[in-house]
Amino acid sequence: GEPQIELSKCIGCLKCVKACPGSALEIFYTKEELEILAALAGQQDLAEDEADPEELARREYVAGYQGVWVFVEQTEGEAARVSWELMGKGKELAAKLGVELCAVVMGHKVEHLCHEAFTYGADKAYLLDQPVLEYYRTYPYLDALCHLIERYKPEIVLMGATGMGRDLAGAVATRVKTGLTADCTGLDIDPKRNLMQTRPAFGGNIMATIMCDRFRPQMATVRSHVMPMPAQTAGRSGKIVHASFPLSESDVFTKVLQVIRDSKAGHVDIAGAEFIVSGGRGMMAKENFAILQELADELGGVVGASRSAVDAGWMPGDRQVGQTGKTVRPKIYIACGISGAIQHLVGMQDSDLIIAINRDKEAPIFEVASYGIVGDLFEVVPAITATLRELKA
Ligand code: FAD
Repeated sequence: GEPQIELSKCIGCLKCVKACPGSALEIFYTKEELEILAALAGQQDLAEDEADPEELARREYVAGYQGVWVFVEQTEGEAARVSWELMGKGKELAAKLGVELCAVVMGHKVEHLCHEAFTYGADKAYLLDQPVLEYYRTYPYLDALCHLIERYKPEIVLMGATGMGRDLAGAVATRVKTGLTADCTGLDIDPKRNLMQTRPAFGGNIMATIMCDRFRPQMATVRSHVMPMPAQTAGRSGKIVHASFPLSESDVFTKVLQVIRDSKAGHVDIAGAEFIVSGGRGMMAKENFAILQELADELGGVVGASRSAVDAGWMPGDRQVGQTGKTVRPKIYIACGISGAIQHLVGMQDSDLIIAINRDKEAPIFEVASYGIVGDLFEVVPAITATLRELKA
């Protein structure tokens, strides 16, 4: 008769699948079984590693580093928002590792930032407060941060992917001989307690998870608005470590002669906006952005753009959303005449609500849209603006 598989005897060894001359056998696992198999495979890896002397040496070195650090970027005593966003993520990572979350505060007259860091979840703050650190300059900050890292040995150091963070993180990683993953979009901890650093790679076509398992600290930068802002707990306190580092003005070659403030007039912060109306190549011309501005004005929002629109000279570079532009997370993102290339999507797909207007119903932007309107933006956008005006009247 028909060959039968005795299920009570099957141990899932797959030998029958390999041996079957007609390739007629297949084994399927349920989702729960797959999870158990993945967990077993992880345990086996760990057990195999026990015997490897190189692995044992690695573990001993790695165990010498502990704690999650967030570098609190400040300008004139005011912290960058991204530092608090990282504090939220850092708290999660520290909890998974069962270690302390620490803030690193550097500058002059900046102790108040340690207290602010505690309200965002830090357990401890390393404070370097001296006149030479008043304004950011690469060398004194580099020397000071490397000094703290070498002395207190954190396992993870996170920084904002801002102008300052990009400059400092690369220099520090080079000096302390470790790895750095820039512009991460996701951070997590793997079963071996390594930091999983996820970011778009190959022009945004894949998401790569990068690990730095042989060197410490593990360093990553994250852009503003990628991680959510954590809730603040008023009155929460922590321990301040008053660190010191012998560094005087005469050791520093670069001098700050004058600080000229950028005039904020005309500056539009798309990264912090709650409502963004963005235009792409479908806008056809610079003048046509006026209809987006009208809609943005009705919403109390700002106008953004795709790279094609910026490259065409229709919008300034600081309005660009995407991989090489800003990452935004508004309440509502309205994409007008934007096809939805992956490099654009990575900059806006975490918006709370996405409305796409495109005349091509196959446009990839519709895959991330909460609401899609297939039609001519030159009809749809003015109609939305007119309706909003009627509702307000
Ligand atoms: P198109 O792809 O040309 O799309 C125009 C859309 O408008 C089409 O879907 C069309 O159907 C629609 N349309 C035309 N007329 C109308 C109309 N009257 N009504 C309604 N719809 C209409 N891009 C970014 O945006 N940000 C980045 O940061 C970025 N970084 C990049 C980095 C790298 C390394 C690379 C290689 C590319 C990057 N790009 C970036 C470019 C990206 O790949 C796309 O080329 C770009 O996003 C396309 O812009 P678009 O959607 O405006 O134009």
